[in-house]
Amino acid sequence: MSYKKDTICVQGGYRPGSGESRIPPIVQSTTFFYDTTQGMADLFDLKADGYFYTRLANPTVAAFEGKVAELEGGVAGIGCASGMSAILLTMMTICGSGDNVVSSSAIYGGSFNLFSVTLPKFGIETRFFDPDASAEEIESLIDDKTKVIFTETIANPSIKVLDFEKIAKISKKYGVLFAVDNTLATPILCRPIEWGANLVIHSSSKYLDGHAAALGGVIVDGGNFNFKGNARYRTFNEPDESYHGLVYADLPSAQFATKCRAQMMRDTGAIMSPQNAFLSWLGSDTLALRMERHSSNANKVAAYLASHPKIDWVLHPSLPENRYHALAAKYMPNGCGGMLSFGIKGDVSQAAKFMEALKLVTQETHVADARSCVLHPASTTHRQLSKEELTEAGVPENLVRLSVGIENPDDIIADLAQALEKI
Ligand SMILES: *Cc1c(COP(=O)(O)O)cnc(C)c1O
Repeated sequence: MSYKKDTICVQGGYRPGSGESRIPPIVQSTTFFYDTTQGMADLFDLKADGYFYTRLANPTVAAFEGKVAELEGGVAGIGCASGMSAILLTMMTICGSGDNVVSSSAIYGGSFNLFSVTLPKFGIETRFFDPDASAEEIESLIDDKTKVIFTETIANPSIKVLDFEKIAKISKKYGVLFAVDNTLATPILCRPIEWGANLVIHSSSKYLDGHAAALGGVIVDGGNFNFKGNARYRTFNEPDESYHGLVYADLPSAQFATKCRAQMMRDTGAIMSPQNAFLSWLGSDTLALRMERHSSNANKVAAYLASHPKIDWVLHPSLPENRYHALAAKYMPNGCGGMLSFGIKGDVSQAAKFMEALKLVTQETHVADARSCVLHPASTTHRQLSKEELTEAGVPENLVRLSVGIENPDDIIADLAQALEKI
């Protein structure tokens, strides 16, 4: 039986047995007891499912990973300590020195730094493309060392909407994994796997948790990529000597997720904590309801800002004049979330003045939770980027990022109005 997404939000990932707690308990233990040596050996050999050490897997984390995997329509989820560790582990699972990643340039600042500064130190190169570029331009970056095409559904903070079909075609043509960071859309608004993505990555610190309470990340394995015999993925087709000669491509399912957990969780320990998994599991109960409200509030706020004389431009795909309106209508027909950005007329100081005058909407390095907040990326999350890189990432200097919360929309608009009056 497969359920609708709003049902999975409250019922997914955990099903109690008779007499067990109705919601997942916080299994606050590093380790697990077995009464036979064979029982433990089977776990180590991946012959049986179970838990032996929380660095690799934990029941509370499993409840949350399971819910997110179900929501995305994937076959397995991996709960990570943060969204950044989810992206790092994805890359470590498929890339080695000499390989390359072909990535959209319109991505989260942290991901951009990981790809452009840190991964190269380990011999992994990233080739960036403008997500609006033609298929031919993107294809020209792919060679036999390309291991993944990386994108975001709704780019943070440039609010560009991905043309899934364009990327899916390229991914199929070259037999290259297609990974999508779906943090800002969430599976409620868009399910990338249905549009050809193979891996879906989340920073669950955002809408999934929804309450700014717990850092986390999840990687979802779509189970829809054929590693077997694909020369591009040698490490999936050769025995893993560090894991009893296991050949991941021969597994019946979750080939990526198994390799990711068995090798990379084992070696890095970047797993989500049980406490954070519990908070995220609980927070995501209301995800479907919240995304509806985030989307409708953002539509109203975007329309208000677009008509304001002190505002230079507003980006939200709900606006009919928005460049991505048609793509959003196709891939996110039920709304496009609470993230919007706008430019305030005048120089950078006007933006700062505006932000300081806000009373309800707070200034913080966070987005996508229940409370409305603003950020000036050029002076915070993207401050490591040069002016040219900022432009390339779609983040001009006067851009203000507004994450519209689930407060009453009239209160949000009134706060923006009084702050705009002050400049
Ligand atoms: C926040 C964010 C990340 C990083 O997640 P953390 O949980 O903060 O590590 C990655 N991608 C996107 C789109 C984000 O918004």
